[in-house]
Amino acid sequence: MKIICIGRNYTKHIEELHSERPNEPVIFMKPDSAVLLKQHPFVIPEFSEDIHHEIELIVKINKVGKYIEPKFAHKYYDEISVGIDFTARDLQQKLKDKGLPWEKAKAFDGSAVVGDFLSKSHFNSVENLTFELTNNSKTIQKGNTSLMLWKVDEIIAYVSEYFTLKIGDIIFTGTPEGVAAVKPNDVLEGFLEGHKLFRIQVK
Ligand code: MG
Repeated sequence: MKIICIGRNYTKHIEELHSERPNEPVIFMKPDSAVLLKQHPFVIPEFSEDIHHEIELIVKINKVGKYIEPKFAHKYYDEISVGIDFTARDLQQKLKDKGLPWEKAKAFDGSAVVGDFLSKSHFNSVENLTFELTNNSKTIQKGNTSLMLWKVDEIIAYVSEYFTLKIGDIIFTGTPEGVAAVKPNDVLEGFLEGHKLFRIQVK
């Protein structure tokens, strides 16, 4: 199983990080060892002083695919959820400044929170879903998939030009604005259209 992540997919998030608006999707990956085990706390790693939360819509691939056309992409996933792409922002900035790959800042153990999946048939459209991250019951990040620069089906098509998608692969589709540091004792909960899909304690 692999995790493919899209960066810079929401305009206001691009602006808050003063990043360049991309002409095509920004892709990076996390290994399966990045998945935070169910019921486990997220332990802030020692190599970073600035671990940011990034709540994202995630989709699970249900069929092997390569060179998928956008009009057929909807057939390659049935289940969706929300997750967190934890990012060591201080380390990522150092790597970006040197033009180096981001993996140490993005793909470390526990950096991928994967919520419980729901059938996409529960919802009218994947392209108009509100999702939210709370900390101790207070909203800290909120987005809507209608604001994505690249829609889920376009992402699947684009990614599959480079990487064969396999059953169980997960795609993180990018974070909206509002990323910020987490700290010990935070309790992070992720919601998709009001359904609570994960609860994580930070240590
Ligand atoms: Mg992200």
